[in-house]
Amino acid sequence: MANLNNKTALVTGGSRGIGAAIARRLAADGARVAITYIRGADAAARVVKEIESAGGEAIAIHADAADAKAVTAAVEQTASTFGGLDILVNNAGILIPKPFEETTLEEMDLVIHTNLRGVLAATQAALRHLKAGGRIITIGSCVGERNMMPVLATYAATKGAVKMFTQSLSREVAPRGITVNNIQPGPIDTDNNPAAGDWAPPQIAITALKRFGHVNDVAAMVAFVAGPEASYITGASLTVDGGANA
Ligand code: NDP
Repeated sequence: MANLNNKTALVTGGSRGIGAAIARRLAADGARVAITYIRGADAAARVVKEIESAGGEAIAIHADAADAKAVTAAVEQTASTFGGLDILVNNAGILIPKPFEETTLEEMDLVIHTNLRGVLAATQAALRHLKAGGRIITIGSCVGERNMMPVLATYAATKGAVKMFTQSLSREVAPRGITVNNIQPGPIDTDNNPAAGDWAPPQIAITALKRFGHVNDVAAMVAFVAGPEASYITGASLTVDGGANA
């Protein structure tokens, strides 16, 4: 377990899936946690309740990751509620699987605004609060580095972009003692990508381990990178993908 006592974390898109697992894990490791959501108010409230029942502190904030003003306000609300911010986890992300030539400009904008613009806005807002030891962690994807599946061109472009953003920003903020890293999951069983879905078999086929991963596999990596033992890791893209990119 990482020691995150007296740290405050904001996890975007924390009501379900990978984000909810990250929120639970960071709270279990001692952090106060804020999560954002867009539609799942009840699910977000359940995550908060679970954390509180286990003795932790958490709040849920309605904030559309595609709306820069909303994510900036979520950062401010987190910092004012808990008296600062130490860890930002840019997790909220969407996928609209479609052949590129059939993808509308509106769909492209939605994916780019949620997966990239929102990450940039949240990170900029967080940097106004982060001190030495601060952590910026983005959930990219193994397809941000190598993509063996069709219908993911726009999504993969956003995940490749957050990889380069991570590398670039790490050099800017290193003098302040802040690290910036990108965690790249492979197929992880969530609502967004169910292990029992029609689309699962080709994804399983490209992994070395021949199976989907669990949300806690990603949460464990985030907790490690958020913790004090990861202070020499920055600008890195760390895959948790069952060997999909091996
Ligand atoms: P899910 O669809 O299962 O969960 C998405 C979460 O993000 C929900 O809490 C949802 O909230 C929230 N969310 C979605 N859109 C927004 C938005 N505009 N603003 C705020 N919150 C939002 O997704 P996953 O857990 O599977 O994915 C999480 C991240 O991991 C994404 O960035 C995804 O690209 C990445 N990833 C996932 C992989 C996988 O196989 N699952 C593989 C590689 C990367 P609400 O309940 O309100 O809708």
